[in-house]
Amino acid sequence: MEPALLLLNIRQLLSLRSNTTGPRRGRELSELGLIEDAAVLCVGGRIASVGKTKDAVRDSWIKKNRRKIREIDCSGKVVLPGFVDSHTHPAFTAPRLVDFEQRISGATYEQIAEAGGGIRSSIVGVRRATRAQLTEHVLAGFKEMLAQGTTTAEAKSGYGLSVEAEMKSLDAIGDAARQWPGTVVPTLLGAHVVPREYADREDEYVHIVCREMIPRTAKRGLARFVDVFCDRGAFSLASTEQVFLAAREHGLGVRAHVGQLTHSEIAPLLKYDPASLDHMDHVDDEDITALAGQSAISPSHQTVVTMLPASNHFLGLKCFLDARRLIDSGIPIALATDYNPGTSPTTSMPFVLSLACTQMKMTPAEAIAAATINGAHALRVADRKGSIEPGKDADFAIFDVEDYREIPYWMAGNRCSAVVAGGTLLEG
Ligand SMILES: [Zn+2]
Repeated sequence: MEPALLLLNIRQLLSLRSNTTGPRRGRELSELGLIEDAAVLCVGGRIASVGKTKDAVRDSWIKKNRRKIREIDCSGKVVLPGFVDSHTHPAFTAPRLVDFEQRISGATYEQIAEAGGGIRSSIVGVRRATRAQLTEHVLAGFKEMLAQGTTTAEAKSGYGLSVEAEMKSLDAIGDAARQWPGTVVPTLLGAHVVPREYADREDEYVHIVCREMIPRTAKRGLARFVDVFCDRGAFSLASTEQVFLAAREHGLGVRAHVGQLTHSEIAPLLKYDPASLDHMDHVDDEDITALAGQSAISPSHQTVVTMLPASNHFLGLKCFLDARRLIDSGIPIALATDYNPGTSPTTSMPFVLSLACTQMKMTPAEAIAAATINGAHALRVADRKGSIEPGKDADFAIFDVEDYREIPYWMAGNRCSAVVAGGTLLEG
């Protein structure tokens, strides 16, 4: 860690600062807290002050300590909070190229799964891999994320689907996290799909998730959240509730994949205080009412809807979630990559922002807020992440562009020239 770091002459600083607690909703999503010709001082890995360059150079503490401070000239650049990628599946070993070709030839997600492809085909590789081999794969994903401006990532297990292989996946995520300068929020996704050896015995498998995987995960402190894939071909609402209950018993937070393939009922899940409900491509009026009604609850316990447009894109779907309707209803939304080998092989948050703008009609400002501060809320780390404010972790993405709107505009490229993670500058 640098003792002190001063970013100066920033053309546009997006502080994402606001007076509201809780995730951004509606019009608040457009408030980027933009400061031109800005400066940020970081000390001991935290943000110490944020303001104009002309005030920073006059500051008496900065003047006195200038020799000890490392200065970074950010002329002509945009600085924003490091992206918070709140939904990723990095614990896999190989791309799924057979699925890719089959889908191009017209097979659906479920047909591929029935033919032995899909999630189950990633299990063989993960079960065979050693912890060290799996760690290498996870770390490679994290490094790619960092190079594109992501400094906080959620990371799910879920391609092991046995007690041993799920624990190995979480260990690998932990090992990779310790070698990565960013911050990782690990999630147990033992309930990703019912493994073949438990075919037609969903209850028995759910029992293993609840009575073996969750207690072991909690005891060893391997994850902060438990996730369930609640959809046709995966887990029922009743199973999801059982897993959520077990998670709660063991002091772990919950989140779920819902409504990706078919509509799943979400109102019964809200009582478990999920940090996030993800995908939600199939959303109905009742869901909107239930989610919008949460604003009356405490701001720190809001369920964020995490939208994953890169998976719609990669699956070749013509339809995307109606983000405008969610925003207009006052539902807090986040954007994430869904980085995984089957449906979203990308680590690029800028590409996801681009899709959000072109396919979901979000403005660049809304997309950036959804990918930073609201992503932090979706992981319940907004006290430390997601905005550039004194006291928060010094995590920034520095883009070699003059206007923040260029971040989603330069589609599928990478204009991120450096990041700061925990107060340390890492050049791209
Ligand atoms: Zn996912």
